[in-house]
Amino acid sequence: MTSQTVRVRFAPSPTGYLHLGGARTALYNYLFARHEGGRFVLRIEDTDRTRYHPEALPDLLMGLRWLGLWWDEGPEIGGEYGPYYQSDRVHLYREYAEQLLREGRAYRCYCSAERLASQRARQREDDDHGGATGTPGYDRHCRYLTAKQIADYEAQGIRPVIRLAVPLEGVTEFDDLLRGHIAVQNEQLDDLVLLKSDGFPTYHLANVVDDHLMAITHILRGDEWLASVPKHVLLYRAFGWEMPVQVHLPTILDPSGKGKLSKRKKKTADGKELLTYIHEFRQKGYLPEAMVNFLALVGWSYDAEHEFFGRDELIRVFDLTRVSKSPGAFSYDKLDYMNAAYIRGLGQNDLAGRLLPILRESGLDADIDSVLAFVPHIQERIKVLSEASEWIDFAYVDDLSYDAGELLQKRLTPQQAAVALEAAAAALEALPEYSETAIEAALRAQAEASGLKAREFFGAVRVAATGKAVAPPLFGSLAILGQARTVRRLKAAIAALAALG
Ligand code: GLU
Repeated sequence: MTSQTVRVRFAPSPTGYLHLGGARTALYNYLFARHEGGRFVLRIEDTDRTRYHPEALPDLLMGLRWLGLWWDEGPEIGGEYGPYYQSDRVHLYREYAEQLLREGRAYRCYCSAERLASQRARQREDDDHGGATGTPGYDRHCRYLTAKQIADYEAQGIRPVIRLAVPLEGVTEFDDLLRGHIAVQNEQLDDLVLLKSDGFPTYHLANVVDDHLMAITHILRGDEWLASVPKHVLLYRAFGWEMPVQVHLPTILDPSGKGKLSKRKKKTADGKELLTYIHEFRQKGYLPEAMVNFLALVGWSYDAEHEFFGRDELIRVFDLTRVSKSPGAFSYDKLDYMNAAYIRGLGQNDLAGRLLPILRESGLDADIDSVLAFVPHIQERIKVLSEASEWIDFAYVDDLSYDAGELLQKRLTPQQAAVALEAAAAALEALPEYSETAIEAALRAQAEASGLKAREFFGAVRVAATGKAVAPPLFGSLAILGQARTVRRLKAAIAALAALG
């Protein structure tokens, strides 16, 4: 007999943007599926209409695609276990809830929100007075209604919820691949709601029904869902279904390692911005291959030495037994270091092609030829693509405004600087061929003749041509800027110096 095909799913709710934790969960599912030659399913858990966020789904699909986590079945591509939006499957959840009703494993509950609230308040009071608390949660009032009471409620037109009749005694147990054996006393479990009064399922019912109908073999998800598993075990048992293997992934902690990485807390104690949404990383200019590599290592490791893994390599070596049991801190510094290494490893055309949209997004009228010409000068200098604009934006503006202090940074007098710039402008203007080598030769000759120190002379030219004291290598930058623009800028700087007196 051949072993069962591995089928895993990423099952986000479209309630917000794709964030690091979700992306890590998706990645592990993807890597595990590819490693095992299995299927990676994307299922959209969109039945909670109160938390629906219209931008969430496009953001999610785009984020997964940007990371290269292509799903085998799911939105936009379909598959034999569809539909893959839970909102298109509501009839199924109703049928399964009805089935449990018929079998006496579930019951209709007519309790009003007010009754539930006052019952909870009483329970809290008992707790505060150290009283015997019994089962937390719902007091099971409707589990024991008589036929007459039910008929009365129905006659009043009250729309019930459907609750699971949880066994009152005994233990619910399961194994998690990472957490080991977990046992919960049934008396600690609530009669959970399966179907709400509007006929929509709760997460628990829809999730269990779909994992079963979609033939999911392994559930890899964040460990905030671990507490739900005993309820799911009871549901699988009630239906007589086999439960998929459970793998609850460790929490991602903030860089300090002390707290959970939160979607809301966006700054470190020292004020550094913490990105958490995948689209923020894309906009800032992290490379998807660096993100994938880095995210794989937040909670998984191969050995103590290897940290750079291409996608194919990750697929080859990824293995659930090496997933860590304890939470891992997200180190932004390490991500920067990795991203810089990936940037250095790109071919020049590739890097230019990735820089262009980022530069354009930042408002610069950049073109591919000039960006490609800058690449050799900045490739080693940037950690994220968006940093390129600080280096080369001078090439995409019409006029520079000069900071007098910067023009005189090498403690030259305005007159000395003006003389130097005049000599430079005249020499550059006279060049028949405006190439990097020709520029260098011309400017070196002028620097020598000027009697200034080379760095004073070149410093003045740099600030005049780029507006920056720190810029990519000078001669290459001037070549990219072009003869006419360079000369015009040097002359504008001379005028600015004249205004200084
Ligand atoms: N819809 C849940 C979420 O948003 C899915 C949890 C699970 O994977 O079971 O994360």
